[in-house]
Amino acid sequence: MYDAIIIGAGISGASLAFELAKYKLHIAVIEKGSDVCAGTSRGNSATVHSGHDAAYGTNKAIYNVLGNAMFDTLCSDLKVPFFRNGTIIFAINDADMEEVRRLKHNADLNRVPGVEVLDREGLLKIENYFGPEVIGGLYAPTGGMVCPYSLVIALCEQAYRNHVDFFLNSKVERIQKTKSGFFVTTPKKNFETKFVFNCAGTHADEINNLVSSNKITITPRKGEHIILDKKLSPYVRTTISQTPLNLPGGGHTKGMGIMPSVDKTIILGCGAHDVTDKDDTATTSIGLEEITSYFEKNWRHLPISEKIPKFPRNMIINAFGGLRPHATTDDFIIGESEDVKGFFNMAGIESPGLTAAPAIAQKIVQEAADKYHIEKNDFFVSIRDYEKPFREMDEDERRQAVMNNKEYGEIVCRCELVTKADIIAAIHAPLGASTVNAVKMRTRAGMGRCQGGFCSPVVAKILAEELGIDLTEVTQSGEGSNIFFPKTESLSQRNSE
Ligand SMILES: Cc1cc2nc3c(=O)[nH]c(=O)nc-3n(C[C@H](O)[C@H](O)[C@H](O)COP(=O)(O)OP(=O)(O)OC[C@H]3O[C@@H](n4cnc5c(N)ncnc54)[C@H](O)[C@@H]3O)c2cc1C
Repeated sequence: MYDAIIIGAGISGASLAFELAKYKLHIAVIEKGSDVCAGTSRGNSATVHSGHDAAYGTNKAIYNVLGNAMFDTLCSDLKVPFFRNGTIIFAINDADMEEVRRLKHNADLNRVPGVEVLDREGLLKIENYFGPEVIGGLYAPTGGMVCPYSLVIALCEQAYRNHVDFFLNSKVERIQKTKSGFFVTTPKKNFETKFVFNCAGTHADEINNLVSSNKITITPRKGEHIILDKKLSPYVRTTISQTPLNLPGGGHTKGMGIMPSVDKTIILGCGAHDVTDKDDTATTSIGLEEITSYFEKNWRHLPISEKIPKFPRNMIINAFGGLRPHATTDDFIIGESEDVKGFFNMAGIESPGLTAAPAIAQKIVQEAADKYHIEKNDFFVSIRDYEKPFREMDEDERRQAVMNNKEYGEIVCRCELVTKADIIAAIHAPLGASTVNAVKMRTRAGMGRCQGGFCSPVVAKILAEELGIDLTEVTQSGEGSNIFFPKTESLSQRNSE
């Protein structure tokens, strides 16, 4: 019997697993994907929001600000790339400036540190250039950027090292309340547990509604992004967007932004459109057109336009989509269910959920520990062991690494400088990679300019060798996504028999 079952291994489930592991509890995470971070936490703008725009008094505002403040220590302990590059929201007319002042007022109510309304001269002290129409803007210095999937993987790995069990490829289909807790059913295995933590993203309403009569509804709200080549990274420093007035997304987005990723690519996006399929993260021609036409029109306002005057379509290397789990209450639904003792929700975690999740998890776990008198685990280890990958080593470290292990001398992904040794390490790490996409999220193999054109088949071959499986069993991202198929006999072979 488990003490706690967490459903879903996105940023919500991962943060909860990490926090719950600080207590003397037998914990399991159940995830329907073939890897952790299979949902929204993989495909977002990667921004650690300052908290200036979440409406005052909401859970979104409270936990955004608390979560933001946790990122320095959390990312340093877990060895996850994170920096505070600040956020600018620029204005080109009086209506925009009015919105900037409203956001500043909201930021003050939310107690966001350091937010300023700047005129054009003020903005030019932060970035050397803005287009001539830009008249001022809002500056939030605590805004930052993180690698979202590295953070989820690191939280899960550390929870695993602290004895949390993980069950992947396991979809929770039924939950029954029992005398001592809950009976949780998946196709492969059933679980008994005292507590359930619902972190199922866009499916969190279905999980809640299995046990609680306080029904909730989650609508998937799609946002799409474009990724630009690393060559542009010297020209993008601060996260910049225009005030969200009159932008695509009907007021549901923070605006079209340009963000420097921690891996030096540039992220552009995103709009917001309600859809019906809770798992359809595919990009659409309409969504991508929305982004490119916005940036084609407004590129001239951005600092990068001083050196790259026109939106560089030829620098687009990829695009991705994600689904915000939007609750009809328009706020995070967090804490113990009013009618089902021992059942906790972390639901409706749409933006700024990536930023807020570590703080929400802390709050939920603290409340549970106080109410149910759960003892602290004195053996919890918060600092993650981390082996530097080849691409992060300096020349001397690289020479030494190749001397110690010749597989560091085999470059598999040329764009991102990923070696065979890095890939083998990712496969054999705690909660190691077992698909091509899982290797990609852990090493960046396939995330560069050629998008895996050269390295994907080699990654598949290494996976087959290391996992002791046939190449035809290697998948891109779990069941049904096999890459190679058994050789079929040709027509001439068949006819000759
Ligand atoms: C376009 C876009 C941009 C965003 N930008 C930002 C941003 O810049 N900053 C920010 O702070 N936030 C941002 N967000 C919000 C942020 O990404 C989300 O708040 C966060 O990722 C939600 O995490 P989660 O763990 O709740 O959900 P998810 O990451 O979706 O995790 C839920 C998990 O539950 C699993 N699951 C579902 N049903 C079951 C079941 N029945 N059994 C077992 N497992 C199940 C899923 O497979 C999934 O892995 C953005 C979101 C989007 C879509």
